[in-house]
Parts: sequence; C-alpha cells; structure tokens
Amino acid sequence: MNDRLGPRLAEPLVARLAVVGAGLIGSSLCRVARRKNLAAEIVVADASPQTRARVVALGFADRVVESASEAAQGADMVALCVPVGGLGAVAAQVGPALKPGAILTDVGSVKQAALDAMAPHTPPHAHCVPGHPIAGTEQSGPDAGFAALFHNRWFIITPPEGADAAAVELLSDFWRAAGSNIEIMDARHHDLVLAITSHVPHLLAYNMVGVAADLEHVTQSEVMKFSAGGFRDSTRLAASDPTMWRDVFLNNKDAVLEMLGRFSEDLSALQRMIRWGDGEGLFDLFTRTRAIRKGIIAMGQDSAAPDFGRRAGETGESGEQPPSTP
Ligand code: NAP
Repeated sequence: MNDRLGPRLAEPLVARLAVVGAGLIGSSLCRVARRKNLAAEIVVADASPQTRARVVALGFADRVVESASEAAQGADMVALCVPVGGLGAVAAQVGPALKPGAILTDVGSVKQAALDAMAPHTPPHAHCVPGHPIAGTEQSGPDAGFAALFHNRWFIITPPEGADAAAVELLSDFWRAAGSNIEIMDARHHDLVLAITSHVPHLLAYNMVGVAADLEHVTQSEVMKFSAGGFRDSTRLAASDPTMWRDVFLNNKDAVLEMLGRFSEDLSALQRMIRWGDGEGLFDLFTRTRAIRKGIIAMGQDSAAPDFGRRAGETGESGEQPPSTP
C-alpha cells in the first residue's frame, strides 16, 4: 500500500465507474479508484483485445468489455480516457446508454474540443463535465499506469455554462479523493494556459529532437552519447505518444499558434542578444526564468533534486514520477 495515497474511503463515491480506454490515464484512474474505494464497481471498455487481456491480467477492473456503450450502461460516472480526436465517436456510442443523472467526463488534454465533441451526445437527463488531470508520463498503455499518478497534481474541471452544480461537486470530490487538487476553469482559458505550459514545450521538444536526428555533421550516436540534461529531457517529452500529441495540436490550433507566435518573437530577441553580445539582457532573462522554476518547486509541482529531478526507481507504483503534463 502506498502511504501517500491515504486511507480508503469508508463508502465509495459512485456505485459504478465506467472507464473507456485503458491506457496510461484510464488504467491509473482505475487503479486509484480501486485503491481508494472511489467506486463500488469498475467497468473498463477497450476496443483492443490485447489491451482487454492485459486489463484482466493486471486486475484493476471488476468487468472488462469490448464496447463503450456496454460499459456505460448503468454507470454513474463514465470517464472517456481516449485521445482527444476519438472523443466524439466514443461519446456518440456512450450517449444513448447513459442513465438519468450519470456524469459523462473525460481526461483529454484540450478542453474546448472535448466539450464540443461530448456535449452534443449527452442526453438531457445526464451531465457532461469535462476535466483534465495535469499529470502524466511519456509512456502509454495499461501497464504504464499507477495509482499515485494524480497525487498532489492539479485536476482542472471545465464545466459548460449552466452545468449541474451537484455533478461538478461530485466530480471534484472524486478527483480530490484520487489525490488531486481541483481548479475550475473556462475551457478556452484552459487551452491557452496549457498551450504555454505543456503543448508548446512538447512541440519544441519534438522539434529539437527532430533537428538532432536530421543533423548532417553530428552523428546520431554522438547525439545519444553526449546528450546533456536539457537534450535528454527533450527526448523524454519527444517520446510521448504520437496519436495523443497529434490530436492535441490538431484540436488546440489557435492557442498553440498564438503562443508559438509569441515564442518566435522572443526567440528572435534572444538571437539578437547573442549576435550583439548583450550579456546583460541574457542575464536578466535567465534570472527571471530561474524564479519561475523556484515558484514551481515552492508550489510542490516538482522536486529541487539536481540532475533534472532524476532519482533511482522513479517510475512505477512506488515512484515519485516527474510529471510530463499534457
Ligand atoms: P494511451 O496510454 O495511449 O491510451 C489511450 C487509450 O485510448 C487506449 O486504451 C486506446 O486503445 C484508446 N484509443 C485510442 N484511440 C482511440 C479511438 N479513436 N477510439 C477509442 N479508443 C481509442 O493514452 P493516455 O496517455 O492514457 O491518454 C488518454 C487521454 O488522456 C488523452 O486524451 C490525453 O490527451 C489525456 N492525457 C494524457 C496524459 C499523458 O501524459 N499521457 C496526461 C493528461 C491527459 P488501444 O488499447 O486500442 O490502444
């Protein structure tokens, strides 16, 4: 038992939880729900027979089914844990099966697109309340999940206008009991914030590692052999799931392009400082950026340990996984 997760609830918060998509996030959700007694019954749906077999073997669900609509039947909360581009199709299957009062939620990294995809398929007798755990790793699939993934991380809820207050409250209680801190935000604002804190950094990592892979005068083995901390951390981000990240950029186009525009302008300013030997300008900027890092550590969102926070045994159930926050 991982002590950080605290005691099990005396009574489950929901009778039946359905999780569609047993990847990193879906399987972590099931694990923490089981560990903390958040749901009396956990039903998992996944289209892939291999994934379903792994879920059975790993034992974090009470029932494993093929179709999302079967999982949703009789569920009090249905969490769609699939890539953002798949949300609409899955919500279309789930919608007609939702029982009165059921909450349809998700964990997608882009929130306006998630709302647009799910809301039209939510019947009037159910509640659509999208959400996003600011927690993750570069790994995928049911084996990669662990119960402590959401511990001390933010969970952002983006309720649509006029959302049912009790449904928002229950979703907040659920994720709080999973170890998260809760923030309520407008979906578009979420997308803008996450563009700069997560989406653009991932894009830059993909770009940086892509450039290194294409270099003509430095061999790939030299890149791997002499990789320093900054590059190594970029390779970790750039190893993230291609489907998930393709969907993030296709569905958060405006905010990412807006932030990339700002980024390009500031990069040009940096180029100019280097070209003209403006040491003072560089020093001032690096001093300001250092303060941001200190703020993140002070808020408990990362560790001050040297070597970019790497520690032995940092992955898995007992590890303090450094977040890659899509
Ligand atoms: P993952 O490990 O790759 O799992 C994705 C799951 O979705 C798999 O079970 C997969 O099925 C299923 N799936 C893929 N495409 C689908 C489609 N078109 N229709 C139905 N099911 C589909 O991914 P993940 O990291 O858990 O990400 C899931 C969601 O969490 C994404 O929306 C992502 O934006 C969000 N998120 C991710 C992170 C992170 O760090 N990874 C953090 C926060 C939020 P198979 O079994 O067939 O592969």
